[in-house]
Order: sequence, then structure tokens, then C-alpha cells
Amino acid sequence: MKRAKKSGRTEVYQTRAFDLARQQFSIETELRRAIDGGDLTLCFQPICDLATGRITSFEALTRWTTEHGVPISPAEFIPVAEESGLIVPLGRWAMDCAARTLAAWDRAAGDDCGVSIAVNLSAIQLHRDQIAPMVEAALAAHGVEGRRITLELTESALVTDPDRIARTMHALKGLGTTLAMDDFGTGYSNLAYLQKLPIDVLKIDRSFVTGMLADRDKIAIVRAILSLAQALGMRTTAEGIETNELAQTLAALGCSYGQGFLYARPLPAEAAYSLLADRND
Ligand code: C2E
Ligand code: MG
Ligand code: MG
Ligand code: MG
Repeated sequence: MKRAKKSGRTEVYQTRAFDLARQQFSIETELRRAIDGGDLTLCFQPICDLATGRITSFEALTRWTTEHGVPISPAEFIPVAEESGLIVPLGRWAMDCAARTLAAWDRAAGDDCGVSIAVNLSAIQLHRDQIAPMVEAALAAHGVEGRRITLELTESALVTDPDRIARTMHALKGLGTTLAMDDFGTGYSNLAYLQKLPIDVLKIDRSFVTGMLADRDKIAIVRAILSLAQALGMRTTAEGIETNELAQTLAALGCSYGQGFLYARPLPAEAAYSLLADRND
């Protein structure tokens, strides 16, 4: 890094900002190529019924390894995809791939394979794309029923143009899909939306779950979310369950579902299907 003699700090700062912009630009260029070239994959992480341990669903999570063999984390490329608008084609690809995978699992099972798949929708995507027709097209292309798909939204999607988002959510419900509020409790303090919008599931953010057994404040927040969900007739999924003790405590507190490394990490489609066939038979 270059340093000017007089205004060293400013120049270091500008060089960093420039590097960051350049880095982002190259991620964007490579990501565009990856989407077009079919270099993205979906991994699937099980969501289990905490009472029985059965897998009820899988969350589809996008994975990207560059052509140089470097894996890039979603925490890095999703924000770039959102800023550049690439989240629209990426999201369409993820929805289509999830529906295709579910159809393949049903064929392998010779019947309804018994699980649903959850797909993440970014706020930017919800505002920029025609989401309901996009989801409907993916379902139709692979002969999958809407009730087999959960769509995970974040609270940030509700901040701008809430009326439009409400219409979109009702249109998605009209397709038979389940709607889940992802990372619940981290995004938005106005809870009035919960009574107005057709939300089926609250996903309790991992930050409240990790370490909650040794933290009275976290337990209090988790309890509050669980009783809120119960009062509003919504189901709950706890994210980030890494230990048996956490799973048992959450089940005892009345949480319906759990997801985390205790059950499995996100897995390639074939491994996810094997796990399903193993666990749920
Ligand atoms: P998310 O939707 O909240 O997904 C859960 C994240 O938590 C995943 O990270 C998953 O690997 C991680 N996780 C699950 N269980 C555990 C656990 O027990 N411990 C820990 N430490 N982590 C756990 P991942 O795959 O890195 O994805 C990060 C975020 O990127 C996702 O958070 C989601 O917001 C976004 N994302 C990933 N794929 C897509 C996509 O296709 N579309 C959109 N719009 N966003 C996506
Ligand atoms: Mg999610
Ligand atoms: Mg989440
Ligand atoms: Mg999260």
C-alpha cells in the first residue's frame, strides 16, 4: 500500500476504498459469469421436528466456488449480488434448482418424498422481480406443488413499500407456499406487520440461540419470541442448534423445529437425499 508523506492517512484510506471497489467489481464480474455458466450449486440443510427428530424440510443455500477453485461465502457474494442486481437471476436460478431437486427426490422416492424445501428471497429481489410469477413458473416447470415450498423472507423486505410487499406475500400464499420470517428478531422493531401479513413461521435468529443456555437475556428473548408465535398461531424454527442440550431445551420451551450443525451441515443434493432416506424411514 502506498503512503503519501504529508496526508498519509487519507491516502491509505483512499487506496483501501479503491481496493474494496475493485475487489467488489471482480466478484461481480465473476459472479455474473458463474450464474451464466452454471457454476453455482445449492446445498441443503435439514430442518427437524424437535419433538421427533424427523426431517421435515431442507433449506436451500447457494454455494459458489470460483473457476480458480476458491469457495466464496454467501456472506460475501450475496451482498454483491444484491447491490448489482445479480440477485434477480441468482434467485431465479435458486428457485428453479430447488424445485428441480424436489422433483428428483420425489422420483427417487417413487412418491412424495415427504419434505419441503425452503428458498431464501432477498429484499432486493422482492422489490425488483415479479416474484409470484417467477415462483409459479418454477413450480410448473418441475410439476411441484406450492405447499412443498417455503419462502424465507427477512424483515428488511418489509421496510420499503409495505403495501406492495403485502400484495406480493398474499400472491405467494395463493400459490400454496409457506412463508417464513428469517433471522427473526434482528431486523425491525415494529411488530405490527406480524398481525397484518400472512406469515406462517418465525425463524429465531442464530444469535439468540448460540450461547443461550448460559445467558438469561438470550433465553428471555427466545421465550418471548416463542410465546409471540404461539399467540399469533405461527410455527417456530430455531437456527444454529449445535448441541443436544440446546435442542432439548428449545423443545421443552415449545419451539417446533430446529436447524443446525447438530443435525447436519448444508449438504449437496445427493447427500441430503441419502440422509433423508436414512433418518426418516
Ligand atoms: P440464512 O438464510 O439465515 O441461512 C442459515 C445460515 O446459517 C447458513 O449460512 C447456514 O450454513 C448457517 N448455519 C446453519 N446451522 C448452523 C449452525 O449450527 N452453526 C452455525 N455457525 N451456522 C449455521 P450460509 O449458507 O453461509 O448462508 C448465509 C446467508 O446467506 C443465509 O442466511 C442467507 O441469508 C444468505 N443466502 C444463502 N443462499 C442464498 C440464496 O440462494 N438466496 C438469498 N437471497 N440468500 C442466500
Ligand atoms: Mg434462510
Ligand atoms: Mg436464517
Ligand atoms: Mg441467518
